[in-house]
Amino acid sequence: IGTLYVVATPIGNLGDITARAIQTLSDVDYVAAEDTRVAKKLFSQFEIKTPLIAYHDHNETEQSDKLIYRLKQGENLALISDAGTPLINDPGYVIVKACREHNIKVVPIPGASAVVTALCAAGVATDQFYYGGFLPAKSKARCDVLATLVERDYCSVYYESTHRILASLDDMQKVLGDERHIVIARELTKTFETIKAGAVSDVIAWIKADHNQQKGEFVVIVEGVKQAAQMDDKAKNLLKTLQQHLP
Ligand code: SAM
Repeated sequence: IGTLYVVATPIGNLGDITARAIQTLSDVDYVAAEDTRVAKKLFSQFEIKTPLIAYHDHNETEQSDKLIYRLKQGENLALISDAGTPLINDPGYVIVKACREHNIKVVPIPGASAVVTALCAAGVATDQFYYGGFLPAKSKARCDVLATLVERDYCSVYYESTHRILASLDDMQKVLGDERHIVIARELTKTFETIKAGAVSDVIAWIKADHNQQKGEFVVIVEGVKQAAQMDDKAKNLLKTLQQHLP
């Protein structure tokens, strides 16, 4: 019986691929890829010659059956998505679940994911966080989701596209107010990587002033209310200490 390797690929900068990812993608019998054209570009960069099979949202169920058959024949397979970690808002759930049901070994090969990449540079408390995937496309549904953040103590992370970033930020301002602290992480690991933090109203003014900042891929982080309050307390204490020591 074979093994399924779930392999993370870079989210922009190809230098972020791991040695283990290259080795695994080269060693397996087949690689199931979300888009074989995207995979071919990656493979040519690292001289990987392994045959590719398409595995995406629209054929996940039927492909999964075929892949399980191959795994049972003893073939080793790897699963990749277009960028980052498979299954994190990317295809893969059906095959991984099926492997578990058939007692087929699943080995994760970790690497980049936009959610963690954004969090580690955001400057908000990350001991606890909520990951919400993509915010809904329609404003009413989006505002309903955002309403659940009004009193959330810890930070919330969302993926957003270039088409909806402004509309989503406007809804955040509407539902969470001008002052809620947010961070937007754009084009992570790529040439135009930008990480901007501030009050919702300031971030909106900043992004509206520069059309280029509205392009690309985004992660949006909304700070938790308790985290913000704790930061305020820390700042107040620091101020108190400074006042005691300053002439
Ligand atoms: N599986 C991927 C991962 O592990 O992050 C996510 C795939 S999801 C279909 C694509 C979304 O992830 C984009 O619309 C964007 O919100 C986010 N994303 C991916 N790469 C990014 C990057 N380099 N910078 C910022 N956000 C990114």
